[in-house]
Amino acid sequence: MRSLYLLGATGSIGRQVLDVADATPGAFRIAVLTADTDIETMTVLIQKYQPEFAAMNDAAAAETLAMRFPDLEIGSGKAGLVRAAAWNPGDKTGLLVNAIVGVAGLEPTIAALGVKRTVALANKETLVVGGAIVMELARRNGVAILPVDSEHSAIWQCLNGEDLASVERLIITASGGAFRDKTRAELAGVTPAEALCHPNWNMGRKITIDSATMMNKGFEVIEAMHLFGLPLDRIDCVLHRESYVHSLVEFIDGSLIAQISSHDMRLPISYALHHPTRTPNPTARLDLAHIGELSFAPIDFDRYPCLRYAYEAAARGGNAPAALNAANEVAVALFLAGTIPFLTIEAIVHQALAEVAFIERPTLAELLETDAAVRTAVTGRYPRPNLI
Ligand code: NAD
Ligand code: MG
Repeated sequence: MRSLYLLGATGSIGRQVLDVADATPGAFRIAVLTADTDIETMTVLIQKYQPEFAAMNDAAAAETLAMRFPDLEIGSGKAGLVRAAAWNPGDKTGLLVNAIVGVAGLEPTIAALGVKRTVALANKETLVVGGAIVMELARRNGVAILPVDSEHSAIWQCLNGEDLASVERLIITASGGAFRDKTRAELAGVTPAEALCHPNWNMGRKITIDSATMMNKGFEVIEAMHLFGLPLDRIDCVLHRESYVHSLVEFIDGSLIAQISSHDMRLPISYALHHPTRTPNPTARLDLAHIGELSFAPIDFDRYPCLRYAYEAAARGGNAPAALNAANEVAVALFLAGTIPFLTIEAIVHQALAEVAFIERPTLAELLETDAAVRTAVTGRYPRPNLI
């Protein structure tokens, strides 16, 4: 039985990870569960899965949980998350599943790689902010990072048995998000409730807003660059409204290989959890004859400046993607709180990239300093409590 160390257990991905694990009784045990503040969901999950250790990012939530489960060890804050990721350091077959949202996932990923634990990564911000450091640590420790993001899982599946040297380019598909049919003028007045209505996927709040701005696609380009070790100019995006083709690989002989399936994260989660074997799972089957048509179109970078900023930050490298991510995290929180209009998200990101004190080869500490400095600068301009 394989141990899962599940971070972000109460979220959209975290709950689907548990669904996938439940679908093969006896295959997995849930050794560790963590969340941010949601003690009610954690209470239910702890009762059901009886983990060895749990952690809450929020200290008060950790205290409440500790009172409910006096016999369970419960950590809190960043230290608790890092402990959870590296729990049972001698367990060489366990899998860290990182489903935390935001840069908060970076240090736990590093902690798991530090004990040579394989990582199934949904937390794309880990690679956006710390891709160079994280991939280097994984290489040094001989540990695999398995993608959970659907586009990267698709590319991973397309590359199965192929030589990376025969890859011409990666083509990441994009649905266009909630506002793909709106003009730039119309975008000025959109509300958080409208932005949270994704046409194809039901996901956490932050990634749904990132899909509407297409920052999510920019993050995925950076994620792919690190995961597959290809230069930025060989990673393209294409608009694909139906979100059935999850991504494609073009080979040097002109062949395109695509991975196609329904909109259900349980498939890429299952592929990562059971790798290298495929396992039946509850994902809905796709009937292409019923769907009839799949459409593709070029992406208009003027309409989606966040995608362009992500490419620019990736090309600069160093701590630029850390600044991009921090500005975006705060801007999305401000938009969701009703403090700024939708189009101010891209303006905040643009300004952060213009102002960043550039470091070419940042250490982890310097990346975290960049993150903190950008958060302070943005919240200083758009003051609201509890956003740092
Ligand atoms: P979510 O908001 O639904 O869940 C986030 C989880 O992380 C929750 O368990 C929450 O308690 C925890 N969390 C939040 N802030 C935290 C913090 N500061 N410290 C520790 N834990 C914290 O988010 P989600 O949609 O499940 O996304 C999780 C990650 O997976 C994101 O990086 C997202 O981009 C990526 N992802 C999600 C989907 C999807 O379909 N939801 C698809 C691809 C990739
Ligand atoms: Mg994705």
